[in-house]
Amino acid sequence: MRYLVISDLHANLAAFDAVLEDAGHFDFIWCLGDVIGYGPDPNACVTRLREFPHIGLSGNHDWAALGKLDLRGFNTEARISAEWTAQQLDPAARAYLQALPPSRIEAGYTLAHGSPRQPIWEYILDPATAEMNFAAFATVICLVGHTHIPATYFRPDNGLGCEPRSPQWNLPTHLNSGRWICNPGSVGQPRDGNPDASYALLDLEDHVWEFRRVKYPIQETQRRMRKHGFPARLIERLAQGH
Ligand code: ZN
Repeated sequence: MRYLVISDLHANLAAFDAVLEDAGHFDFIWCLGDVIGYGPDPNACVTRLREFPHIGLSGNHDWAALGKLDLRGFNTEARISAEWTAQQLDPAARAYLQALPPSRIEAGYTLAHGSPRQPIWEYILDPATAEMNFAAFATVICLVGHTHIPATYFRPDNGLGCEPRSPQWNLPTHLNSGRWICNPGSVGQPRDGNPDASYALLDLEDHVWEFRRVKYPIQETQRRMRKHGFPARLIERLAQGH
């Protein structure tokens, strides 16, 4: 079974559609949260996701738009976009997002938006944080999103240490030995300096992970954000990839 692993779509339908096209055949989608927030197409992204067999998680931006988080924890631009998104959400999208958990175990994998230890808020951005999180899940592999930075962390079979491994684009990473925390990066708002949409493919039988990157019409998303009066910084950052 070939799984499409995506996270942090952030209401960017042009980016999501580019990923769906580029991925080729897949059997199922695992979506690690933050379908909405920041971008101009919250309802359309929820609708598109629901056209495919999938399971999803909720992220902090999904919670924010649902009123489940105190927006004072957000910076100004994030708060403005969360308030706009909350006004835009239709009842079907709201009900769908409301029902999603922030973490779950599927087919022997732990899935969490931020981290297994703090699924909504924690960012795994360094080996020390990853290492502490290996104690917080019982499966061999955990998939996370939230940082918008594609990454893998490897813990050897002897259970000692934690190595960050840089993404290898379009090349297989075999997850058969040791334990792993893998982050596919962000579809709709990458922050690793590369503006292309980031995602991963996962072969569930052979435990093979592959990072992928695809260009999308950024200007189309920016045009739609401008039309809705989004903060300039949110619009510009898409082209900068951070
Ligand atoms: Zn996010």
